[in-house]
Amino acid sequence: MLRFDLITIFPEVFKGIVNESIIKRAQEKKKVAIHLHNLRDYSLDKHRKVDDRPFGGGPGMVLTPQPLFDAVKSIKGRRQAMVIYMDPAGKTFNQRQAKQLTKQRNLIIICGHYEGIDERVRSELVDESISIGDYVLTGGEIPAMVVIDAVTRLLPGVLGKKESLLVESFENGLLEGGVYTRPANFRGLKVPDVLLSGNHLEISKWQKADSLKKTRTIRPDLLK
Ligand code: SAM
Repeated sequence: MLRFDLITIFPEVFKGIVNESIIKRAQEKKKVAIHLHNLRDYSLDKHRKVDDRPFGGGPGMVLTPQPLFDAVKSIKGRRQAMVIYMDPAGKTFNQRQAKQLTKQRNLIIICGHYEGIDERVRSELVDESISIGDYVLTGGEIPAMVVIDAVTRLLPGVLGKKESLLVESFENGLLEGGVYTRPANFRGLKVPDVLLSGNHLEISKWQKADSLKKTRTIRPDLLK
């Protein structure tokens, strides 16, 4: 079982993803456990304040170290856990890293907000800073959901069919080719004949060629 502990000032945001679809089923099958922690519950401030102005000036607020240090310490307890900070300045997340994370047993994910977290949290507590792409979002909640979803669906026994993972984009360094469903002729738009032929060897060849063509057109960088 892989346990996720999320530290956030907006735990409610996770309710949708945690209670639906694959992630819901993965919890029911005891493949993952998701624990939400409100950062404000760890604040020693009488108003449960968790942010303050940046030293040296500048816009916005910064999440202060005390609640984050205490939250991580309390959640970790005596368990070994990897601490991740969702961070636009982190290394860009990809399928390879998602696979590596499936080997962990405990992941503590810090969701930043405002201008981010005090740098001492990053230097003292964080094992890995992960970005989900070169753009800036308002908070780390959506990025954390991206990581949870990508990692969970790779855990053995979570998806119904193991084969669905094998043909997916990035699995063999390529994008998945086009897929079609009924009807075979939709308003004059026809499915490639080979897919209706029942000839599995030819179908497989077509799928490989289409995957290569798509990768070359959309993501030639993957072929290098
Ligand atoms: N001032 C920060 C900077 O320029 O790097 C951006 C802070 S952002 C408005 C607030 C929080 O959203 C961050 O602390 C981080 O947790 C999260 N976040 C925003 N964009 C992200 C991204 N691309 N990947 C991962 N986390 C992101």
